[in-house]
Amino acid sequence: MKSIITKFLSVASAAVIGCSAAGSAAAVSFDYVVLDPGHTPRTPGAISAGNVPEHGFNNVFVRELAQALELEQIPYLISNVKNAELSLTDRVKNTGKRALFISIHHDSVQPQYCNLNTSPCRTDYASGYSLFVSKVNRNFRISKEIASKIARALRQSGLSPSVHHGEKIPNESKILLDHNGVYQYDNLVVLKNASSPAILLEVAVITNPQDERLARNPRHRAKIIKAIVKTLREYIGFER
Ligand SMILES: [Zn+2]
Repeated sequence: MKSIITKFLSVASAAVIGCSAAGSAAAVSFDYVVLDPGHTPRTPGAISAGNVPEHGFNNVFVRELAQALELEQIPYLISNVKNAELSLTDRVKNTGKRALFISIHHDSVQPQYCNLNTSPCRTDYASGYSLFVSKVNRNFRISKEIASKIARALRQSGLSPSVHHGEKIPNESKILLDHNGVYQYDNLVVLKNASSPAILLEVAVITNPQDERLARNPRHRAKIIKAIVKTLREYIGFER
């Protein structure tokens, strides 16, 4: 891991400005990926059906994704490597124009869908992965393109997207941009403030006991990570 970060620092110091996209996905080029494990120890996000905070799921997934990038020699940074109480705006500090920002989260549902007699929430109302991009991000088109490529790779791996964010109810009503599970959510702070293309992945709906089991399963995580890395390798030309 150290060698990759060292390499990133030397690449960053070269200060190449602007990411290139010459009309096709294959022409999109980045120097490094910023991996962002969502939430912090004090504000841990959703609570799983089995009473485990989302933050822990996010950290495990980011650690394994980082290892996969390392194997592929794809340079990366982790936004919150010290597991600190980092603000949302600080998370995107290192998103220079040659970066790709990927925020990792695990999903929940609106409270009305939780079983009334359980705490924390347990429900089979929703399941699956989803991806988000923000139109406020200055690189919206590229962000959407990459999210769609990853979503397609996830579908081809046999996984299903969650559809509940498109429901016309308060706090959902997100625009479905791609039937493979890409939504537009303009006000997500990290997505709109990143100066690079930025996507957010909800790996699974952990308030669903079955999805939580999948999120805990290393083979399931490996399948998702393989799809992400395959997409980055095929469509993004990292400098080596
Ligand atoms: Zn989250």
